[in-house]
Amino acid sequence: MDKPNFVTRPEEAESAAKQLGVSVVQLLHSLVKPAQSFARPPISKFHVGAVGLGSSGRIFLGVNVEFPGLPLHHSIHAEQFLITNLTLNGERQLRFFAVSDAPCGHCRQFLQEIRDAPEIRVLITDPKTAADPDADSDGFLRLGSILPHRFGPEDLLGKDLPLILDHRDNSLTISDPDSISNGNTDITSELKRTALAAANRSYSPYSSCQSGVALVDCDGKVYRGWYMESAAYNPSLGPVQAALVDYIANGGGGGYERIIGAVLVEKENAVVRQELTARLLLQTISPKCEFNVFHCR
Ligand SMILES: [Zn+2]
Repeated sequence: MDKPNFVTRPEEAESAAKQLGVSVVQLLHSLVKPAQSFARPPISKFHVGAVGLGSSGRIFLGVNVEFPGLPLHHSIHAEQFLITNLTLNGERQLRFFAVSDAPCGHCRQFLQEIRDAPEIRVLITDPKTAADPDADSDGFLRLGSILPHRFGPEDLLGKDLPLILDHRDNSLTISDPDSISNGNTDITSELKRTALAAANRSYSPYSSCQSGVALVDCDGKVYRGWYMESAAYNPSLGPVQAALVDYIANGGGGGYERIIGAVLVEKENAVVRQELTARLLLQTISPKCEFNVFHCR
């Protein structure tokens, strides 16, 4: 592969592995360094790249993203980016991932929202990391071995509820359906429909406060993302961050000022509200972005 894509098709992955004379799982290691160059860490200057193999055979990238002018908890960690990239592309399972540095505690926790998370295999490519006796011949460890005694979804939810990568339809509708066409520009209507569709895929089993965001750039291209919760609450990822993952992965690497419109759809009177935080984030990264909020139920 000349240049890593944020999503690589199985046949491309297999052909790249063949060219290098390695397996697709071994290929993940070689994609970590190029992935790091896509990171956007203007505060830490610490570039993290994560490369995951899904059950479909597709390869997904994740990078860390920081936002100057905002508190650090608005940042997107590379593993969160990776999981968001999987969900946006309907991938049902993460089997293996390679990452440039040891996953932080926040990410080890966020990964627990994936079904059978302890069985995911992780490879830390940082050469300073000492070889682990529990690793397999390719250097991969069970995620369960680096987060023992985990707190996860099974501590709070029934066993059969859909988890973060599982199919979900939240059956939400806009509270005032007429407002979709009345008094809104075409683009606002399109963003509203896209944000509602995103809210319907939102993963919010702990608070039931699903939400979705749609963004449009100056070329008229639309991006979307949805709110995803963690059993440990704080590692949850906001809907604007999730939509920014779509923007970074599919927007050709442009600056955030190219985002000129945004719509948030969230529940009326939600106990977990995104509106004020979403407004703050968008105003900071793209001050001219027009932001509208619509409620659903
Ligand atoms: Zn992290």
